[in-house]
Amino acid sequence: MADAAQTLDVDFSGDADSAMFDPSAFRLTEKEARLAEKARRLGRELFAPRASQWDRDAIFPSQNYKDMHSHNFLGICVPEADGGEGAEFRAYCLTAAEIGRYCGATALTWNMHVCSCLWSGTLADDLDMSDEQRVEHKRRRAIHYKRILNEGAVYSQPFSEGSSAAAGFTPFATQARKVDGGYRVSGKKIFASLAGHADYYGVLCTLIHEGQKPSRRDTLYLAIPAKADGVSVVGDWDPVGMRGTVSRTLLFDDVFVDDDAQLMPQGVYFQAASSWPHMFLTLSPTYMGIAQAAYDFTVQYLRGEAPGTPPVKRRMYPTKQLAVAEMHTKLECAKAIWFQAITEAGPSPSKEQILRAYTAQYTVMETSNDLCRLAIRTCGGQSMLCALPLERLYRDSRCGSLMLPWTAELCMDRIGREALYEAGETDD
Ligand SMILES: Cc1cc2nc3c(=O)[nH]c(=O)nc-3n(C[C@H](O)[C@H](O)[C@H](O)COP(=O)(O)OP(=O)(O)OC[C@H]3O[C@@H](n4cnc5c(N)ncnc54)[C@H](O)[C@@H]3O)c2cc1C
Repeated sequence: MADAAQTLDVDFSGDADSAMFDPSAFRLTEKEARLAEKARRLGRELFAPRASQWDRDAIFPSQNYKDMHSHNFLGICVPEADGGEGAEFRAYCLTAAEIGRYCGATALTWNMHVCSCLWSGTLADDLDMSDEQRVEHKRRRAIHYKRILNEGAVYSQPFSEGSSAAAGFTPFATQARKVDGGYRVSGKKIFASLAGHADYYGVLCTLIHEGQKPSRRDTLYLAIPAKADGVSVVGDWDPVGMRGTVSRTLLFDDVFVDDDAQLMPQGVYFQAASSWPHMFLTLSPTYMGIAQAAYDFTVQYLRGEAPGTPPVKRRMYPTKQLAVAEMHTKLECAKAIWFQAITEAGPSPSKEQILRAYTAQYTVMETSNDLCRLAIRTCGGQSMLCALPLERLYRDSRCGSLMLPWTAELCMDRIGREALYEAGETDD
């Protein structure tokens, strides 16, 4: 595989797959249409042909990251004032869905990277900070953005610990203690995508005030350099799907980071999680893309046009037509609610908007796997051979509803509870 990044001339005409969200039908902005189009071209021409290799060998898609850097995609959510593309939430989601259509592991890991910019950028701009805090935050985030844009630095986002912290119920057990000039961090993160491949780990941890009970309000979001003393990657990664994410275990043993490692000022992550809840919807674009890919494959296959398969048509059977109709309906429903949810993402959403965000997450994650299941059943045995992408889509799609904090189960828990109770209401 070549080391140098490959370039791509963006040409808006003559493509085989059409855009997932047609710019004029969905009234996309010029920027959204341009970024999503570029992602579609990158995905189809460069990432799709490589996807089976990352999956088969469970290796990280490093070459894709070089290409994304050369197309300024590592800086997609870096504000324009800092030299990035300045994509807002919806623009990012639409772009990521197009990447997910061609390589799930690339889209999912890219999401971890992009969140370090989205959360510290657009999202943080909507949150309350003192003037002094804001000036300091802008200075600090510029350091991170510069590394990303100039050096191609890649950030990850390990928060899972195998406890209820990642679900948002308890403080993170990874702890930071304030020392002169920075913090000392100790703890363990499981399922840390990009482990061993990111340059910085965007770690969520609890700032400890001696003599006080750890609190979720004291969550810190720190960028820990992968090469810092005390950082290690352990265990293996051999899962059923999303194999290229390389989500191994990260250990932090009394790691020192300086004050500028803060990706958000103290206390602001807690505020973000409560007042900007759509921040947790960013895992869904990958799976929206996989759902589209399963549908596209089925149509191509039944028409006898799927690359790598004999030109045998199967579209004339009424059972196939019915199955495609069912898949189309499910896909359109998922796309419609997802588009609405990403459109209304923002600070202080209404109760209805929050319920819709959970519903969109649940629907996308479950529909993605359901469409892959239907695709295999409809296309038949030859379609699930490893030479074709469908079986990988099927395995990758299985992971969507497991992603904390908004797993399918937790979304249902929240929808049921929050639909029946107003904030603070009890049955006492
Ligand atoms: C491919 C892949 C990549 C990942 N990458 C990352 C990453 O980069 N960073 C990261 O931080 N994490 C990542 N994760 C981790 C993910 O978010 C989960 O933490 C991980 O799947 C392990 O969770 P678990 O199901 O074992 O969790 P458990 O906490 O054991 O939960 C099991 C299930 O119980 C339910 N549950 C959990 N807590 C509660 C509760 N309090 N009340 C009711 N039900 C509950 C949930 O539905 C959950 O699915 C990744 C996961 C996958 C599959």
